[in-house]
Amino acid sequence: MTFRKVNKSQTLQLNEITNDLQRAGKKVYKFGFGESPFLPLPRVQEALQEAVQRKDYTPVAGIHELRVNVAEFHTVLDGVTTDVEQIVIGSGSKILLLNALFAFEDALVLVPAPSWVSYAPQATLAGHEVRRIPTSFEGRWRVEPEQLDASLSDPDFASKSKIVVLNYPGNPDGLTYSAEELQALTDVLRKHGAWVISDEIYGFLHHEGNHVSLRRYYPEGTIVTSGLSKWSGAGGWRLGVQIMPADAPAELKNALLGVASETYSCAPAPIQVAAIQAYVWDDVTSAYLNQQQRILRLLGQEVYGELAKTALRVHPPQGAFYLLLDFSAMRELLGSRGIETDIQLCEQLLSETGVALLPGSAFRMEPSALTARLAYVDFQGTGLLKEAKSTNSDADLLNTLKSACHQMFEGLQQLVAWLPQ
Ligand code: PLP
Repeated sequence: MTFRKVNKSQTLQLNEITNDLQRAGKKVYKFGFGESPFLPLPRVQEALQEAVQRKDYTPVAGIHELRVNVAEFHTVLDGVTTDVEQIVIGSGSKILLLNALFAFEDALVLVPAPSWVSYAPQATLAGHEVRRIPTSFEGRWRVEPEQLDASLSDPDFASKSKIVVLNYPGNPDGLTYSAEELQALTDVLRKHGAWVISDEIYGFLHHEGNHVSLRRYYPEGTIVTSGLSKWSGAGGWRLGVQIMPADAPAELKNALLGVASETYSCAPAPIQVAAIQAYVWDDVTSAYLNQQQRILRLLGQEVYGELAKTALRVHPPQGAFYLLLDFSAMRELLGSRGIETDIQLCEQLLSETGVALLPGSAFRMEPSALTARLAYVDFQGTGLLKEAKSTNSDADLLNTLKSACHQMFEGLQQLVAWLPQ
């Protein structure tokens, strides 16, 4: 008997370990799990309550009215005309990512390192050849066009479809690509006729509200995934959005919808009905997004500022709610504590201080690179959204955030004090 080698995602595992420690009465600073601290807008919550009797299966691609709203929303926010026929609704973007990979046969899938935990296992499940694109701290963990060109030129894979996975603002690094960087990558992608799965789930949580979708430059080859989980604080609602390329070949559309119909059938009907209200672009949604971006920007800068005073290497975040910490500059001192891998580092840090980080190797980094992800969302955000709306002063808001998130800042001090000098 043989079974697939699929491990439980390391992020979920760490959350379980920290929960166990907490149950045992130990203080844990939860910087490991990256879940939105905000709730969906009240009108979205009400719509869900009212939709409880929607027990029907919907069309596979989703309820038409929702797809219309999603297309309009992305047209406005991405600045790219989006047709309703490009939109597929799924139960979370994770399954839509998997389905996008399943839509291709025997492809080469290029996955940057670092990148989110699930891309490579999903590509393997879908039967593809997976190759890593290494990036560096100095290069801001970005994929460089020359490197992409070299990977796509590999003669061993000349006959295969090529799929590149990009994610920005990124998990685990909180960094994004500039318009110029996207343009330069597009030149290479177009030269090779590569497909891109562009995971833009944190796009609306760009801290300055300046997310640029790859669709703007490479509409013919980009499959975008997004959804309610991050910008609308509804990870457990499981509502994902896929935007097919403009003028996608009929075969690709059929494959994407065919795989969807053979996997999840449709996203839950009540959630779709509620999402119709989430995907309304008006002043309420605009303020909701602006204040989330502002809170995350202020917190991200503050946490970054504290860590930048140490020997850790870290970049100021631009979006989402993560920082990728690079401990390599203190390799020798860590070595004298018996720490040679990122897992040893995270385990020792957790047991000695209660600070829970996720090892970079969960994100395809080499264990010896000594990196770890810090998520700065261990707080209740809904009250803070109200506070943010009531003040235009960033300094005042930061003070409010510091006292509301004192637990998080206490954990940060524990981390800083633990670092070898
Ligand atoms: N992509 C990235 C980069 C993520 O961080 C996550 C969730 O953590 C997902 C996709 C999956 O999101 P969803 O809840 O839409 O399945």
